[in-house]
Amino acid sequence: MTTGAKDVVIVGGGIVACLTGLILGRQGYKVTILEADSLGSHASGFAFGGLDPLTGIGLPEPLLEFSLWCYGRHRGLARELHEATGIDVGFELRDRLHLAFTEEEAAESKKNIEWMKDVGGFNVEWVDTAGALQLEPQVSPECIGALFEQSPGALEPYRFILAAMRAAEQYGVEMVQRRAVGLITDGDKCTGVELENGTISAGIVVLAMGPWTGLASEWCGVNIPVTPLRGQILRVRSANKSLNMAINYAHSYVATKPDGLIWAGTTEEEAGFEESTTSEARDSIMADFMKMIPGMDDAELVQQTACLRPLSADGMPIVDRVTGWDNLFVATGAGRKGILWSTGMAQAMFDLIDTGKVQVDGAEHLTLGRFS
Ligand SMILES: Cc1cc2nc3c(=O)[nH]c(=O)nc-3n(C[C@H](O)[C@H](O)[C@H](O)COP(=O)(O)OP(=O)(O)OC[C@H]3O[C@@H](n4cnc5c(N)ncnc54)[C@H](O)[C@@H]3O)c2cc1C
Repeated sequence: MTTGAKDVVIVGGGIVACLTGLILGRQGYKVTILEADSLGSHASGFAFGGLDPLTGIGLPEPLLEFSLWCYGRHRGLARELHEATGIDVGFELRDRLHLAFTEEEAAESKKNIEWMKDVGGFNVEWVDTAGALQLEPQVSPECIGALFEQSPGALEPYRFILAAMRAAEQYGVEMVQRRAVGLITDGDKCTGVELENGTISAGIVVLAMGPWTGLASEWCGVNIPVTPLRGQILRVRSANKSLNMAINYAHSYVATKPDGLIWAGTTEEEAGFEESTTSEARDSIMADFMKMIPGMDDAELVQQTACLRPLSADGMPIVDRVTGWDNLFVATGAGRKGILWSTGMAQAMFDLIDTGKVQVDGAEHLTLGRFS
């Protein structure tokens, strides 16, 4: 295969890779995505799909600007993907209640409201038990109040990655089902990728292997501190009415999804690369679900899924050129927020490759160098 400087090989075919491929392809790069399994077969296809830019690791500082940029891009992107592919990614504005059951939890929420209420475009306020029940009559009357967040978004992750890849294909981006096992190098240049059976040449290589990206540290001799954090979700059916909004409690959540099922999650488990579901996770998710929505005791389990989040050493994403390498880049580590942050990570990756100047607000906090 003859390659030129504009030939990009992206290792890994999750949402970060597909969106990066789409932007590169649209700008005339010839892109090949190497995916060991199949499209959306890991976290990017099985995530919950919440798009809440105000909560999670790195918020408000240093990631608020970045998180808001990412959130702001989703609505337009959903429309563009629909026009390009006919796939509706299910983007919607969905209100949220974060329940508190103890004074300590309430105090923590009220502290967050102090800075959240100044963020434009989101109405965030404290509601007491009666207020919470008025907004969603099925929440537990045992809660002592809730943080109400108006209009954070949500989408359907599998449709999102499918649409991103279909749109990318329209610009000649190709996904090849092959596992990468190393890099081919010449001095400080990466000239290609070694595959299980064969090789592929490349002018530019992007490592976007989600939780497996840490394994590439050995390939390039630079520590990429990313490990897997397993999360599980239950999809259940109940004869009760659907929920008006997403309900959160601690790291758990529950919402009625467009498939008509109630999705309840989640866990944070250090289980290596083991992606199987467990009965312990099922029971702990169910316990939180019943604590939040006690009336749904008829809930029938339809499906249980498990997948691995790419967790960096400080929980924030990494989008950078790999230190010491001329044409090797990395985009990973988005943890619990990779669907939300994928828009900004992909754009920042494109900017780095194309001009070296990143235009995404707050992306200066995503460097790999922060770990050295
Ligand atoms: C239970 C759960 C719920 C979640 N909910 C949300 C949510 O509500 N909102 C949100 O924003 N985020 C959520 N996330 C997080 C989000 O799903 C991830 O951060 C995001 O999908 C990571 O995308 P990625 O492209 O970096 O990695 P991945 O989706 O993991 O993709 C990486 C791909 O690389 C491939 N690969 C790995 N090694 C190789 C190799 N050697 N050669 C070729 N291919 C390789 C893998 O097969 C995989 O397909 C959730 C995650 C979990 C687990």
